[in-house]
Amino acid sequence: TLEDEGMIFKCCELLEKKKLKMLRVGLYKPLTFPYRSKKYFELGDKGLMILEKIKKNFNVLIVSEIMEAEKIPLVKDFVDVLQIGARNMQNFPLITNAAKTMKPILLKRHFGCSIRDLLGAAEYALIEKNEKVILCERGISAPHTHKSTSRFLLDLQAIPAVQDNSCLPIISDPSHASFWHKWVRSLALASLAVGSDGLMIEMHPDPRNAAVDPLQAINFEEFSELVDKIREIGKVLEKKIV
Ligand code: PEP
Ligand code: MN
Repeated sequence: TLEDEGMIFKCCELLEKKKLKMLRVGLYKPLTFPYRSKKYFELGDKGLMILEKIKKNFNVLIVSEIMEAEKIPLVKDFVDVLQIGARNMQNFPLITNAAKTMKPILLKRHFGCSIRDLLGAAEYALIEKNEKVILCERGISAPHTHKSTSRFLLDLQAIPAVQDNSCLPIISDPSHASFWHKWVRSLALASLAVGSDGLMIEMHPDPRNAAVDPLQAINFEEFSELVDKIREIGKVLEKKIV
């Protein structure tokens, strides 16, 4: 989540140091509760100027979520990839509008939807002749996930299942899936082992004080170590890590 220029620049510096090229940063957040405060907030339109500064200062591609079609004309020129969040996976007019920009789309699987539903939703972009669709597994709901210790369950099987049934790349988001920073590392490595084409990892310079999702973000040291590990394991798996 974009909080201010200082924190996001720190994140970008770390990405560059680790030779990573994509920054996922949220301006519009589908927060579970509608309440916002000084401590718990999203920047919305105000963050666009910061995205512009990021582009001027760093060599990173920006991935950002849009929740409503009306925002697309405003946001599209500031981002490289439009993210459709889990809650909007079947908001077909949103997908259609996003696809029409011809920007790559990152489509997250809804936590209650099947692989068929996910692939069907992706077709809404493909039918607009936008074939730059990246899918994302981010955890599903199951009876035992309804407690604070495991909000979702990372569906590792979804990764080979999607690859078996589609040509689209699929990445894994262990941060939103586990909701718990201590498990992110294991789940990230497991995702890689089952063939994930990429990873979305939430990090923060001061995770426990993050404006949103403070429990799931890992700190810079953990992130840095994880990236090194991913590169090491990538070699064993003969995967090119970029
Ligand atoms: C997010 O990526 O910040 C997010 C809200 O994830 P999801 O849509 O998967 O819940
Ligand atoms: Mn989030």
